Amino acid sequence: MSNHPIYLDYHATTPVDERVLAAMLPYFTEKFGNPASINHVYGWEAEAAVKQTREILAAAINATPEEVVFTSGATEANNLAIKGVAEAYFQKGQHIITVATEHKAVLDPCEYLKTLGFEITILSVQKDGLIDLNQLEKACRSDTILVSVMAANNEIGVLQSLAEIGEICRDRNIIFHTDAAQAIGKIPLDVQAMKVDLMSLTAHKVYGPKGIGALYVRRRNPRVQLAPQQHGGGHERGMRSGTLYTPQIVGFGKAVEIALAEQATETERLTQLRQSLWLQLSQLEGIHLNGHPTQRLAGSLNISVEGVDGAALSLGLQPVMAVSSGSACSSAVTAPSHVLTALGHSEQLAYASVRVGIGRFNTAEEIDIVGKHAIATIQSLRKQKTLV
Ligand SMILES: *Cc1c(COP(=O)(O)O)cnc(C)c1O
Repeated sequence: MSNHPIYLDYHATTPVDERVLAAMLPYFTEKFGNPASINHVYGWEAEAAVKQTREILAAAINATPEEVVFTSGATEANNLAIKGVAEAYFQKGQHIITVATEHKAVLDPCEYLKTLGFEITILSVQKDGLIDLNQLEKACRSDTILVSVMAANNEIGVLQSLAEIGEICRDRNIIFHTDAAQAIGKIPLDVQAMKVDLMSLTAHKVYGPKGIGALYVRRRNPRVQLAPQQHGGGHERGMRSGTLYTPQIVGFGKAVEIALAEQATETERLTQLRQSLWLQLSQLEGIHLNGHPTQRLAGSLNISVEGVDGAALSLGLQPVMAVSSGSACSSAVTAPSHVLTALGHSEQLAYASVRVGIGRFNTAEEIDIVGKHAIATIQSLRKQKTLV
């Protein structure tokens, strides 16, 4: 890996922590049982491991283990939450509220529901990436069945005010779903205090394996009904059939356990690294920080750079740092990031943006190297531009 660039794309995915891998390994081989096998010790062993992860996840968000439904990741959890509520509550109402800066795994299911006759209100965000709570209140109607607002944004790191949003929804008897894929293990989450009814989680953004996630589904005060989106053996209380993937589930639990134990110190360390990088970069003119300056994930820095071409910037940074650019290549077409344009950026400035996701295995030396390289790259691109 020595000739690889420095990895700074922790919002896209993270490596599996060695401690997580070690916990998973026995469940591929000697403890291979099906957790649904109730007649022998192979099944019991697997079931005990699954139960343990349920308990870890429940404790992490102040839920009960029975309220955890395993899925293949946050994409599936979002689909189950949004389409599951739509199908179960359509007689009560057919209006759903979400936000322009949500992940496509929320926006696309909403777009799909539109084709079935549901009405979707997409809230805009303020300059700092946060929604306007007054605007949310005004958008709520008597036929609104669901509000979906993410916990932490995957591009600009902004943390929405979940407790305030939960309050608004609960007052009006509207189900509140939050996509917490980027938040679990990184910020405190509490479904009671925040009045969250559905919460999507995933393991691979928090040093766990890919292909495993969960949906928290509230069972009491109020009990949330969901129409299953995958039918079969009736696993997960009928909400998501399919044999549970024990090794991944074990890894998910271990990953969250470690993240919670290290949350306070890691948040402080990542905040320092992010601030030191921002301090370096902001010495240049014409650099904008995207997203709220403090109400954000510790390791998240997203900047837009004036006076450079987005593609050239991306190419110039590539040899030294693995980061994401301001373009989103969904479905083969390149478009400027919908999150950055929602902040009011022009297409040109959205393209000339960089998402730096700092994580567990980055060091201060790396951040220093990256800062110097980014500054040199931007200066050289700007110089070339004035020469042309
Ligand atoms: C990564 C991510 C997803 C998708 O999660 P998968 O587990 O990869 O399906 C959804 N929402 C957000 C905010 C994410 O960051």
